[in-house]
Amino acid sequence: MQIYNTMTKKKETFEPLEPGHVRMYVCGPTVYNLIHIGNARPMIVFDTVRRYFAYKGMDVSYVSNFTDVDDKIINEANAQGIDAGELAEHFIVECKKDMEALHVMPATVHPLATQEIPEMIELISTLIDKGFAYEKNGTVYFSTRKFKPYGKLSHKNLDDLRAGERDLKVTGEDEKEDALDFVLWKPKKEGEPFWKSPWGDGRPGWHTECSAMAKKYLGDSIDIHAGGEDLIFPHHENEIAQSEAANDVEFARYWMHNGFLNIDNKKMSKSLGNFFTVRDILAQYDPQVVRFFMLNAHYRSPLNFSRELMEAAKASWQRIVTARGALEDAMKSSEDADMTKEEKTLYAQTDAFVSEFERSMEDDFNTADAMAAIFELVKFVNIALKDTHTKDFIEALKERMDILLDVMGLNALIEQGDLSDEIEAMIEKRQQARKAKDFATADAIRDELLAKGIVLEDTREGVKWHKA
Ligand code: AMP
Ligand code: ZN
Repeated sequence: MQIYNTMTKKKETFEPLEPGHVRMYVCGPTVYNLIHIGNARPMIVFDTVRRYFAYKGMDVSYVSNFTDVDDKIINEANAQGIDAGELAEHFIVECKKDMEALHVMPATVHPLATQEIPEMIELISTLIDKGFAYEKNGTVYFSTRKFKPYGKLSHKNLDDLRAGERDLKVTGEDEKEDALDFVLWKPKKEGEPFWKSPWGDGRPGWHTECSAMAKKYLGDSIDIHAGGEDLIFPHHENEIAQSEAANDVEFARYWMHNGFLNIDNKKMSKSLGNFFTVRDILAQYDPQVVRFFMLNAHYRSPLNFSRELMEAAKASWQRIVTARGALEDAMKSSEDADMTKEEKTLYAQTDAFVSEFERSMEDDFNTADAMAAIFELVKFVNIALKDTHTKDFIEALKERMDILLDVMGLNALIEQGDLSDEIEAMIEKRQQARKAKDFATADAIRDELLAKGIVLEDTREGVKWHKA
């Protein structure tokens, strides 16, 4: 298997430190808002990487943090007049709902920065003891120049960084010994959450949490460290400096970074009015279409998100759903018998699609090509179903399709449930009530359906439903 390593700028053969076990750490979101559609990209991409390792029979320890203390969280909480911890807790719950909808498997551990303060204090103390960090008036800084390989991931040298040091300024910089130094611990300010430390009350810097959590849950050396490409510098560069200075071993063997998601070819931003939360998008599209859309691009390429492209993804995904539904229907009419000799020969042809799928995934997780291999299987199924077949044969095709789709985190049967006449009638009645602006009745019907485990979503294309 080949993985593109940001560190070496090359595809390299993947070999885990421990055979059969992959340890990976994926930087998670800062929880001060509902996650946006860009944040969903690393979640979906690296969840798929994880699923492929599992498909290959490997154990995966997958750690992804929630940054639950940070300036953005504190500012937002102050603006709303609520506690920062309460705000973060709320958005972690909401983020997990979005992840579940997008079929992102829960991490082996989802550590929270606020629960790992002792580990961060220990890391900072080690760095001070080893001469890599110093304290000034309650702030602890990392001495960037003391860590000689600094810049090795982002391929920057210290002199270039010096020229751009204005960008690196953080609070309290007047006291820094060098403009390149970054904060490991900052003293409390009025109205901010704080913890006790040997350097006074305060809170850790952002970079520190990932180094401390990766060490605690995965060990000093891990196989894969991943996140969006904006994290390469300074976040991941600083994590490497902290971890390697403290532990004296290589922090991560492979560094994987996803490209950015743009909206209509523009950077997503609130000021441009093109900022969408996952929730906004899921009100319009089936979550599986979102996932399918994201995996139809290579994870390192920039990805453009537009209504047009989403409509195209929806139509393509529907082709898979239709073929899978046709297999289900064929089961009902097929003869309950073992595969015939001819069917065995026919079935053997699908091995090529599986090989192509695996070859694509092993080439730095080329999910776009892997998806093309799934479409080859879909085409094959559509042709095969023109004839009648044994149950055994249909069953084998179903299984083959489901296994490949599951690596992608997709399930082509979810939207296929039969709505009983009663439920369909209720949805129709609710539509009538809405037309008549009788929202009380409409809401009552919605609640009644919810009690039966049916969730309704009003989309531009009409009412959609799914099982709760
Ligand atoms: P943040 O909460 O900003 O730290 O982001 C959480 C994760 O989402 C990080 O891995 C970011 O690199 C990633 N991310 C943020 N914005 C985008 C985007 N527009 N496209 C792809 N990934 C993004
Ligand atoms: Zn991180």
